[in-house]
Amino acid sequence: MTKNFTYYLPTNVVAGAGQIQALPDILSGFGNRVLAIMPGDLPGMAAPIMASLDKAGLEVTTENLGAGEPTITYIDRLAAMHKGTPFDVILGIGGGSAMDVAKALSIGLVHDQGIWMYANLSDRPALPLTATPLPVVCVPTTAGTGSEVTPYAVLGKEDTKQKGTIQEPAIFPKFAILDPELLTSVPAALTASTGLDAFAHALEASINISKHAPAAETFGLSAMKKINKWLPVAVREPDNMKARMKLSWASTLAGMAISHRGTTTAHAIAEPLGAITKIPHGLGVSLATLPVLRATVVAGAGDSLAELHSRVFGVENGSAEGFIASLEGLFAAVDMTKPAAAYLDGYDLDALPDELIASIMRFKFRPLAQHPVEFDADSLKPIVKQMIFG
Ligand code: NAD
Repeated sequence: MTKNFTYYLPTNVVAGAGQIQALPDILSGFGNRVLAIMPGDLPGMAAPIMASLDKAGLEVTTENLGAGEPTITYIDRLAAMHKGTPFDVILGIGGGSAMDVAKALSIGLVHDQGIWMYANLSDRPALPLTATPLPVVCVPTTAGTGSEVTPYAVLGKEDTKQKGTIQEPAIFPKFAILDPELLTSVPAALTASTGLDAFAHALEASINISKHAPAAETFGLSAMKKINKWLPVAVREPDNMKARMKLSWASTLAGMAISHRGTTTAHAIAEPLGAITKIPHGLGVSLATLPVLRATVVAGAGDSLAELHSRVFGVENGSAEGFIASLEGLFAAVDMTKPAAAYLDGYDLDALPDELIASIMRFKFRPLAQHPVEFDADSLKPIVKQMIFG
């Protein structure tokens, strides 16, 4: 008996130290008018890149992102502001936030409904697109989300403290440039949390039980091995170009993995945690991962972890408990051992577990049923408490 599967990855990837120099030519291939989305807090990195686009004769309109992750209010505002301008291409330079804004705008600039209508929610499907999104080129400057090769854009809705994802093959970026020189400025703590986010993408895509997806397993395994080996190096040695390149590629591979089979329970917890408390995505996923895996083993659903123990960490006679111990070693090596409470100074922690579980169950941002064991509101409680209080 054979099992059916699908494979689709349309993004051209250009990778290597100094490859940002290819950006003017890549953008020119789409036309002259560029809308560039980038974080406002990285002027040192942006200046030479913008100068190279100017020198190539490109007409660039720049939007600098403020603090925090993308919201629908922000996207709708930018879409209204720029709808009249006939851009040829949208450039997203930065972490997942900048890239997701670029991808969401590629739809928002050519549609009239608010962007939230194009997010897939558990209680209603997304509106179908009625126009072709603008082409998007991505340059990731963190090694975490893999957004440069995914068909997703994650957006927050402020009034309901909710996140939703546009899942649309038409927004796969046309090009991604992976240049490790752009990553040397990422501070150690952000290197660690974004790297563990990429590990979680790779792991969750690998153990997701929803469908047969060999590409998710192949890309996921390769990503996990690289992150285990190179993340502690990059945290210790920020200028180590080899480590930065390996991690950038691993994050992209993990993005390729989630493009074929999505994430599971740690993301189902981390997204509402971010929507409620504003804990950044990579940190939230890092905080949720080990408590979810421990509960998975206690529930007797750790077979896939046992298999991955040998394959990721290179040990003989792997076990699910051993996988968790090895992963705890990686977390310790990058100084990610504190619970969420350590990052939530001044927050009402007593009320948080119930608020978080209510949000997870209400919005079902990610299907809990895709994890090897499906946790419900009761079984999520000890997981969430361990994540918050340790
Ligand atoms: P981010 O993009 O929010 O950036 C976090 C901070 O890091 C910002 O202040 C940014 O300016 C800074 N930063 C970025 N590059 C830097 C550099 N080279 N040096 C110094 N500082 C730098 O963080 P992220 O973790 O990359 O992205 C998180 C977002 O991505 C969330 O909104 C999340 O939901 C989304 N996401 C999207 C996908 C997808 O497939 N579309 C997948 C996972 C997560």
